[in-house]
Amino acid sequence: MIHRHCSFCDASESEQNPLIAGNGVYICKNCVVSAYKIMFGDEKELAKEKNSELVDAVHKLMTPKELDAFLGEYIIGQERARKLLSVAVYNHYKRIFKTTSTKDDDTEIAKSNILLIGPTGSGKTLMAQTIARVLNVPIAIADATSLTEAGYVGEDVENILTKLIQAADGDVERAQKGIIFLDEIDKVSRMSENRSITRDVSGEGVQQALLKIIEGSSVNIPPKGGRKHPNQEFTAIDTTNILFICGGAFDGLEEILKRKQGENVLGFGHDKKTKDEAKPTFDMVEPDDLVHYGLIPELIGRLPIIASLNEITEDDMVRILTEPKNSLVKQYKKLFAIDNVELNFEEDALRAIAQKAIKRKTGARGLRAILEECMIDIMYELPDYSGYEVVITKEVIENGEKPVYIKKNTQKTA
Ligand code: ADP
Repeated sequence: MIHRHCSFCDASESEQNPLIAGNGVYICKNCVVSAYKIMFGDEKELAKEKNSELVDAVHKLMTPKELDAFLGEYIIGQERARKLLSVAVYNHYKRIFKTTSTKDDDTEIAKSNILLIGPTGSGKTLMAQTIARVLNVPIAIADATSLTEAGYVGEDVENILTKLIQAADGDVERAQKGIIFLDEIDKVSRMSENRSITRDVSGEGVQQALLKIIEGSSVNIPPKGGRKHPNQEFTAIDTTNILFICGGAFDGLEEILKRKQGENVLGFGHDKKTKDEAKPTFDMVEPDDLVHYGLIPELIGRLPIIASLNEITEDDMVRILTEPKNSLVKQYKKLFAIDNVELNFEEDALRAIAQKAIKRKTGARGLRAILEECMIDIMYELPDYSGYEVVITKEVIENGEKPVYIKKNTQKTA
């Protein structure tokens, strides 16, 4: 066996001090470290540099108003939830950067994880995705219903962390400052109806497992996901600074609120309210109500910011179709323009799409499929109508009639 030596310090190759081969030369690990220090300063300097980068990041951090304005470009309505999310996110990242840059201060700012309560298709996932995009942090989106305690059939809670690392392209440092969006958290409540046989009876086990990662701990995870098994290499990830945004529709929560409201009215005796006034809204949700719903108090305690989203109305639907930066109508217009066709929708047509979506009861999520169905025949013939304006009327949406084609006279003829 050939004994190779470091060309710089003459140390021989060993397991602790491996060599990197160059063109007829070798360098050992110790020399690489020394060379790094010579070129880039020692560790203290490096830490200082890192800190000043973080301080820079605080300065660069967008203010709550700026975050809200960015969200407003993509999310229609939901003003209160947008505001709450903007402030919570701002505080969260200030907390990360601040506590890393000033170590002499022992006041610890608690993490402000967020719970978004709102009907399906009201923009909960979109909000989390949009906030991650503006902050340029990785995001992992998972469904709480697919999770189980370790050892049960289904996905381990820790797999979410693997997803986050994957979203960060394997950069654990970046993943540790990322966002986890956990949808359908209401479905792992203790009294959830649609529990599976394979899951533990209460769903509480999943909540306990989630709690562990939400409250901040160092977790060893298999880097490629899947089940843990012995003799496997693990990646350690610290969840202290990961922001958790949980979402859920919380069907039936209204009943709990109504009951509470009733008790209050009884308590005060003379408060006569009309039926309409007494209608509870999710804005009134308090941690106790969620305990009644079946979330464990420890988990609720870790989700101090509760924001509610409203059901999407017909007017909202029309705005969602047209106003956001990448709205469906804007996307279709662009697609048509490539074929030199100008696409326009009559107001009535947009309303008809909105009404169809409301019937489907999937919130704004239904809009894309409805539009897609209506446009398929038109797009099939699209290349034949170069130089035309296509007007989508209510009849196109409701009865599948042909749209109005208008030949544009501005079109240059060869
Ligand atoms: P959920 O509340 O169920 O998480 P999503 O955020 O996934 O709903 O919404 C589904 C789709 O509906 C989004 O991708 C988006 O296109 C549209 N959408 C829902 N709510 C809004 C909203 N408030 N503003 C703009 N688009 C919305």
